[in-house]
Formats: sequence, structure tokens, C-alpha cells
Amino acid sequence: MILAIDQGTTSTRAIAFEVRDRDLRPVAVSQIELAQYFPRSGWVEHDAAEIWSAVLQTCREVVRKAGGVDRFAAVGITNQRETAVLWDVQTGEPLHRAVVWQDRRTADVTARLTAEGCEPSVQASTGLILDPYFSATKFAWLLDAVPGSRQRAAQGEVKLGTIDAWLIWKLTGGRVHATDGANAARTALMDLKTVEWRDDLCALFGVPRAALPDIVPCAGVVAETEPGLFGRPLPIAGSAGDQQAALVGHGALRPGDAKITYGTGAFLVANVGSDPVASRRRLLSTLAYQAQGQTAYALEGSIFSAGSAIQWLRDGVGLISESRQSEAMAQGLSDNGGVYMVPGFTGLGAPWWEPEARGTVVGLTRDSGPAHFVRAALEALAYQTRDLLDALAEDGAPPLKTLKVDGGVTANSFAMQFVADICEVEVERPAFQEMTALGAARLAALGVGLLSDLEARPAEAPARWTPRMSADERERLVSGWRRAVKAAIIAAPDRAQDVAAQETPGHQAE
Ligand code: ADP
Repeated sequence: MILAIDQGTTSTRAIAFEVRDRDLRPVAVSQIELAQYFPRSGWVEHDAAEIWSAVLQTCREVVRKAGGVDRFAAVGITNQRETAVLWDVQTGEPLHRAVVWQDRRTADVTARLTAEGCEPSVQASTGLILDPYFSATKFAWLLDAVPGSRQRAAQGEVKLGTIDAWLIWKLTGGRVHATDGANAARTALMDLKTVEWRDDLCALFGVPRAALPDIVPCAGVVAETEPGLFGRPLPIAGSAGDQQAALVGHGALRPGDAKITYGTGAFLVANVGSDPVASRRRLLSTLAYQAQGQTAYALEGSIFSAGSAIQWLRDGVGLISESRQSEAMAQGLSDNGGVYMVPGFTGLGAPWWEPEARGTVVGLTRDSGPAHFVRAALEALAYQTRDLLDALAEDGAPPLKTLKVDGGVTANSFAMQFVADICEVEVERPAFQEMTALGAARLAALGVGLLSDLEARPAEAPARWTPRMSADERERLVSGWRRAVKAAIIAAPDRAQDVAAQETPGHQAE
């Protein structure tokens, strides 16, 4: 069996997977919720000590439920990405709360670097845009916030890392400081082609290289856990950040394979093969995984509001009382009646990048009713996916074969059929949904030789949706969506001035 640790943003889980029929089957699970701290507007923190104790507790429970440590061959780790931890080598304790990926406290730093013209070179070497999302500015902030830690970092007395590195450190009793390439790719300090830290980026962001972990492959034995933790040492043999682990979980291993996770937001990761693809459409270019001496790269794009639009209809407006009602309501209409919803509640992400845009509904008539709002919210998932896939194609990514999906929203068949129709692609949903943990477990199983490859061989057949909409219909709907997005962008507060200025005759004359 493989012990998979899935350290997510809102909870920590351990899952025991049994190796059977050359793939993995879940046999036991344990989960603990994680406290969220919001010390100021835009700040999000976690307690790394709490994360470690939850990992230990869930792992011990799963080991017990699955019949004891002797049944286990290895540990695999997957984690919330980009979240930054600073800890003391001597005590093994965090020196500050972890700065979570969603945290915007370093926005001024990335804005300054952008104004200074640093973005093109950062993007060329890391594949990432300049944004507080990535770990580098969070690491530097932590070193500035904890007095003396900058000097101590240079002397090797304090360490920095993303959650995977923190867990590897704790699991090995402070013997090993390592991170996998998929996690390291999200720091903005790693060269995407060489998979090594870059001194110029460490200097740019003010992060001492001495405090960073060694970069290791996603599959392969990194170290053994402390014997006392589980009663016997277990090799740590697989590691990858959550979205990349999910790609592996889906078995999306070839160029043109892509997965999208439809939860609160939606995360698309597309395998582009053995060379990174530079994005012109502001998608993120990233490392997918490194295993068996091979490196796979990916392009990534996110949708800020996916299931959250359904949540809003349920909890905010009260049009539905349960998310799943949305399916029958949407299906009850023969078409969208010309109503479109752009769910820009927190701005629009790739490929629009309009942080000031807000939610917009267009096309209302006296015939529009609650079902039109529900249908428009579900349809928006598909249009937003289509926008990301168009950006992928324009970036020269290999043509998409199938779109593998997971996440809460995929329970909605109407939405999945609409994704297939609007994106002109076959949509496939595996029966087992824990793709993130499965990916980490599969990497670890490969890492200790229990599997000979990363192929998915699911016990149950996936659900499939095949495109069946006419080209005319699709074109009509997509152009309606594009007009709606324009309306949302024009209505954004930072654009309103531009529009007003254009309407002033004197300005036009200029
Ligand atoms: P996360 O991991 O981001 O918390 P989940 O994968 O658990 O998200 O998915 C939860 C989201 O899925 C919620 O936003 C919810 O509104 C949405 N959801 C759940 N069931 C359905 C459904 N049948 N139809 C549409 N949306 C759904």
C-alpha cells in the first residue's frame, strides 16, 4: 500500500491506496479541517505546526485503519502550492504563520517589479507572470518580518520551503530539506528548463539560496521517515503540487492531455510534452512532473469563479436551495433565452486578466426567470473553459484530445454536456474523484517500483460526454458570450473612466 498525504488549503487528508491490477485502489481515509487566519484584508495564513500535527494524526489513523505500517511500501505527498513556510532548524518550529497562496500582501512588490520592467525576464526563465500568488515574494516577506532571520538564513539556521518541503523536513526529523520540481516551479525562483534555482532570481526577490531546499524529481526515494513516527521508516517516494498531482491522477501523461478541476474555481492544466511552451496569452508555463528521468511540462490557466456562481445563486440570492437543483432547472429551458452571466465576482482571470471586472448579467427580457440565471451560471463554466482552451491553442499547445474533469461541479451532467458542446471536445469524468491524492500515490508507487509507469488503469469506466451541438449553434452562443464579457470589462470601475473620456467630444478630437 501507499500512504498518500493530501495537504490542501481547507483540509489535510491521508488516504491509503492498495496496489491492485497495476493501479491503485483507495482503502482508507482520514481528514482534518484546517484553520484559516485572515489577519488583514487580503492576507491569508495557516499555522504550519497545525498542518504538521494534522498530517501526523491523519497518517497514523489511516495506517491503523489499513492494517498497520507493515502493509505500507511508501509515502506520497501532494499539497496546496505556493504557500510559504519559514522555520527554525534547531527547534523544528515555524517562525511565523505560513503565508498562503491566496495572500496578496506582497502585491506592492510585484507591482514595483512590473513597473521596473522585470516581468519579461521572469516570465522567460520561470514561465510565470509577476504576481504575489507565487512564493518568492512571500519568502522575502517572511524573512523581513522575523527579525534576524535573513542573517540566520545565510548561516543555514533557518529554512524556507513550500508545504511539501516543510512536510519532508518534519517527516525526516529535520534530516532532509527537499522539494519536488513541480512545487519548485511555483516559487518564481526556479529555471523552468534546467529545473534549478536561479541566482539572479534569488537576488531579484531577496531570497537567500542557502535557505532553499534541494530540488528532487516527483517520483523516486527522497528519504525515509523517522522510525518513531509510524513504528517503522517508510520511504518518501513521490511528491507534486496539487494541480500537477491531479494531472498524474487522471493519467494525462501525453501532449494534448488536459485536466480541469471544477470546484469553487476551476484549474486547467494541459500537458504540452517534454519542452516548456512560452505563453503569449498569459497562461502559466509550468513543470508538470519529473519521473523516470523525463520531464513533462504544462500550460495552466484558472477560472476564478466556477462552482462559486452556483453557490452564489444558492446562498447569496436564494434561487435554489441545493446545488444539484441547478441541473433540472437548466434542463427545463429549451435554450438560454439570450441570457449570459459573466461570473467576474473577483475579477476575470486568464485569458482576460481584468481584476477590476465584476459579475455581469446581460440579455434580460420580461421572459427571463430564475431558471435563466441558473442556466447562464452553468453555461458560463463552458464558455470560460472555451476561452482557456482557445488561449492554449493560440499559444501553440498540442491539440486537445480529451478533457478530463473532476471536482464538485462535474456531478452536473447538463454542465458537462455543455462543456463538451462549446469546447468541441470529449469530456471524461473518472468514477473515482480523488485525483490529487491518487496522483501523489501513483508517483510514490512508481518511485519504489511497485508500478512500472504512471498510466491510469481505473477499475470503473469513466463517464463521457461527446460534442453534439451544431457548429452554427456553437458560434452563435460563443459570440453572445464574447459580447457579454466585453460588457463586463467595459463596466469595470477602472474602465468606466476610459469610456467616459471617449464620450467627451474634446477628447475624441485629440
Ligand atoms: P472545492 O474543492 O473548491 O471546495 P468542490 O470540488 O468540493 O470544491 O466543489 C464544490 C462546488 O461544486 C461548489 O461551488 C458547489 O456549488 C458546486 N456543485 C456541487 N454540486 C453541484 C451540482 N450538482 N451542480 C453544479 N454545481 C455543483
